[in-house]
Amino acid sequence: MANWQRGVLRAMGVANHLVEVQEITDVTPWYRRIVFSAPELVPELDIFPTAWLRLWVPNPDRGQHHVSQRGYTFVDVNVEAGTFVLEFVLHDTKGPAGDWARDAAVGDRVEVALTPSKISLPEGTRELVLAGDVTALPAINSWIADLDESVQARVFIEDGHDDVDALPAVTRTGDTWNLVSPELQRGTALTEVMRTEVEPSARQFAWAAGERMLVKRVRGVFKDHLGLVRGQHFSQTYWIEGRNPA
Ligand SMILES: Cc1cc2nc3c(=O)[nH]c(=O)nc-3n(C[C@H](O)[C@H](O)[C@H](O)COP(=O)(O)OP(=O)(O)OC[C@H]3O[C@@H](n4cnc5c(N)ncnc54)[C@H](O)[C@@H]3O)c2cc1C
Repeated sequence: MANWQRGVLRAMGVANHLVEVQEITDVTPWYRRIVFSAPELVPELDIFPTAWLRLWVPNPDRGQHHVSQRGYTFVDVNVEAGTFVLEFVLHDTKGPAGDWARDAAVGDRVEVALTPSKISLPEGTRELVLAGDVTALPAINSWIADLDESVQARVFIEDGHDDVDALPAVTRTGDTWNLVSPELQRGTALTEVMRTEVEPSARQFAWAAGERMLVKRVRGVFKDHLGLVRGQHFSQTYWIEGRNPA
């Protein structure tokens, strides 16, 4: 099958960059940090909370030499070293990006493309509600690392692993973190906790990402419970249960 996505992005002027695996760390058996060396690309990066890239990974199920793109969030961009990190959830279901990360070895090369989408906190925000599953953790950490001390973060993450508290977390005095075990439906337990733990407050902004149904339920909390209107919240589907994208 033709790589139409690559063609569309190329037509839009989106360049691909070759990066090299420099170091691999398994934070848990299912969460892997990979340091990439990209000395020419890194100094050019415009990094802001939630900044992400498209990783091009081989997808033989779609055809010989086919590569598919999947989104991953920039972590620990180091201009001096010319490196950045991606953190991969190694999910049980087969998928080209998860499989690539599981099999990755130092010296492997892979292409990435940058994305122009940019988000920033509205001026005067005092409380930032951050919610999602573990695929959103790198983005949540990127939000907190960038926050002024006058803004309090309220974090809500749904995940069922016993060792989820071993994952990297940017912690600050005054912020709160809630790690919630899932129930049968994604986002149900998370939103129940959110409705109990967060109240509407002045100058509040809310952000969410993760599996589609979880994000949909969290968006309901933002609107119905917190009463946030357009411009006061942002959410993004990062992946869809049971869906294998192109
Ligand atoms: C802007 C953006 C930023 C993202 N940042 C990160 C990040 O920093 N780290 C990260 O790990 N992910 C991140 N994601 C999510 C990641 O792109 C998806 O999880 C992606 O679907 C994984 O691709 P895959 O090829 O492994 O699986 P796919 O081919 O996409 O899917 C194969 C199967 O696996 C299932 N699946 C996919 N992801 C998961 C999962 N996480 N848990 C359980 N089942 C899954 C699908 O439902 C499908 O059934 C981000 C996504 C976006 C859009």
